[in-house]
Order: sequence, then structure tokens, then C-alpha cells
Amino acid sequence: MIPGAFAYHRPKSVKEAVAMLADLGEDARPLAGGHSLIPMMKLRLAAPAHLIDLGGISDLRGIRAEGADIVIGAMTTQHELIGDATLAAKLPILRETALLIADPQVRYVGTLGGNVANGDPGNDMPAVMLCLGATYHVAGKGGERKIAARDFYEGAYMTALEPGEVVTAIRIPVPPAGHGSAYEKLKRKVGDYATAAAAVILTMNGGRIATCSIGLTNVAETPLWAEEAAKGVAGSALDAAAIKKAATAAEAIAAPASDNRGPALYRKKMAGVMVARALARAKSRAA
Ligand SMILES: Cc1cc2nc3c(=O)[nH]c(=O)nc-3n(C[C@H](O)[C@H](O)[C@H](O)COP(=O)(O)OP(=O)(O)OC[C@H]3O[C@@H](n4cnc5c(N)ncnc54)[C@H](O)[C@@H]3O)c2cc1C
Repeated sequence: MIPGAFAYHRPKSVKEAVAMLADLGEDARPLAGGHSLIPMMKLRLAAPAHLIDLGGISDLRGIRAEGADIVIGAMTTQHELIGDATLAAKLPILRETALLIADPQVRYVGTLGGNVANGDPGNDMPAVMLCLGATYHVAGKGGERKIAARDFYEGAYMTALEPGEVVTAIRIPVPPAGHGSAYEKLKRKVGDYATAAAAVILTMNGGRIATCSIGLTNVAETPLWAEEAAKGVAGSALDAAAIKKAATAAEAIAAPASDNRGPALYRKKMAGVMVARALARAKSRAA
């Protein structure tokens, strides 16, 4: 339970952090809230020789509206997402999801950037970002670039980040006013990672689904954007047949492992159940 020795660095700017990561190479890792990385270090599953703490970089904090988007600094904590009035009004799914992550102690320090950059399929925010069509702003030695969340996740703990790059912000297009959203998460107990979870954003027109997007958490090596499942309900009044079609399509792409949350077949079925519940709840919230 004691991590290996490491040197601690606290840069004051993104430029300084990126330069440190470039100089120190593969032995260095960014540190955000530390609530995924430090446990991994204590278990000796990670042993970085240098931790570059992003906590002293004020540019990485804050939530702001920019045109039709909301831009959230990577070091914004999950607790700050819960308390933000702009998000509550325009992107309530972020508050709902953040409240289902861990417990208040974790959420006080765990960050949005750490949650999306970690690459753990059990993290809740990545599927929400796929569902919303978010973009990650990234800075590295070579400059800045943007990566669509839907192109970011490559495998368990493998992402499109190049060595030495940091996520600086998350840009989210605000869904239309009157949209309905829901994040449904099945977990064994409060504070647990998902057995399976689903994020839904939809809009209604004349009692029928006009647009729909669905993301899945912890039912594959990466979060999943369930495009076929969403197509299955488009144009429908979200009757039982349409919900079943979407749930079946979600189950078809789910490829969970058997683990202490249940056998693979059960977790696959639960992906469908979470989609069905999230669709119904999102519809009930749509104008
Ligand atoms: C008891 C417990 C229960 C938990 N339950 C849940 C849960 O139900 N759902 C859930 O989603 N999470 C859960 N977590 C994880 C928690 O949300 C973490 O805070 C989160 O996964 C990582 O955020 P962090 O800021 O702590 O990142 P850190 O732990 O500091 O970093 C995680 C990884 O991301 C990298 N990283 C961090 N920030 C950046 C950045 N800006 N750019 C590039 N790389 C970066 C780090 O190098 C590291 O590899 C739980 C944690 C604990 C301890």
C-alpha cells in the first residue's frame, strides 16, 4: 500500500507542465486529483518516477459558455460540476452523472480531465462525452490540438493522447433547449463503479424522437457510442417495441468481461436494461 519513490513537480502553467513532461519522458505522469493514479501507485500497478501536479495551473480550471458550447477546464472537480448553475440549466446530465461517481470525498478532488483522460472503462464521464459529441483540447510539446471524444478511446487505459500531452479542456456542444437527458447506472452499492451504465440525450418533436444519442459505460474495453441503438428509436414515439430495439442493439455491441460485478452475459443484458431506463427517463424530461 506504499507507492514507489517519486519526485514531485508543481508547474505554474500549461507550457511549463508540457516542457517538464517532454524533458522527463516516459518516467513522468500528469497528476490531477490523484484518485485513480495514486491508488494504482499504491498497488504498484503504476510507478512513475516523476509526478507533474497540474493543480497549480489556474488556466485549467473553470466552466464557461463560449457561443453554442460549454468549455470546462480539465482541472475542474466533479464537485464543481455538481454545483455549477450554468451546467444545471444547460447540461443537467453532467450533474446527474457526477453525483453517481464515488462519494463526496472523491468528488471534491477528482477532476473531469482526469476522469476522461484516465482511459479506465469504468469511468463514468467518457460515455457521457461520447453521447454529447464532446471534444478534448490537448496541449503537448508540438502545440495544441483537438480530439473528438468519439475518437479518443482505443483500449483499456489506451487513448489517443501522445506521450507528454495533457488534456487542457473539454468542449461540449450544448444540446437544444427542451432536450431530455438521463444517466442510468447499475452499481452494487453507493460509491461503486458501474456494472453497466447508459447515457441518453434526446429531443422530441410532435411526440416522436427527433434526435437521440446514447453512450455506454463499463461494458467493453472502452466506453461505447451506441449509434445503432439510437437509430433504432429515431422517429418513434418511444413505444415498447422501439425501446426493445434500442436495448437489443446496445446489447449487441456490449462485450464486457466477467468480473466481481457479474458474469459477462448478465452485464451485457444490463447494458440493454440501462438503455431502456435511460431512454424512458430522458423522454419524460424532454419538452
Ligand atoms: C473509492 C473510489 C471510487 C471511485 N468511483 C468512481 C466511479 O464510480 N466512477 C468514476 O468515473 N470514477 C470513480 N473513481 C475515480 C475518480 O473519479 C477519479 O478521480 C478519476 O477517475 C480520475 O480523476 P483524477 O482527477 O483523480 O485523476 P488522476 O488520478 O490524477 O489521474 C488519472 C490518470 O489520468 C492522467 N491525467 C489526469 N489528468 C490529466 C490531464 N489533464 N491530461 C492528461 N492526463 C491526465 C493521469 O496521469 C493518470 O494516468 C473512484 C475513485 C475512488 C478512489
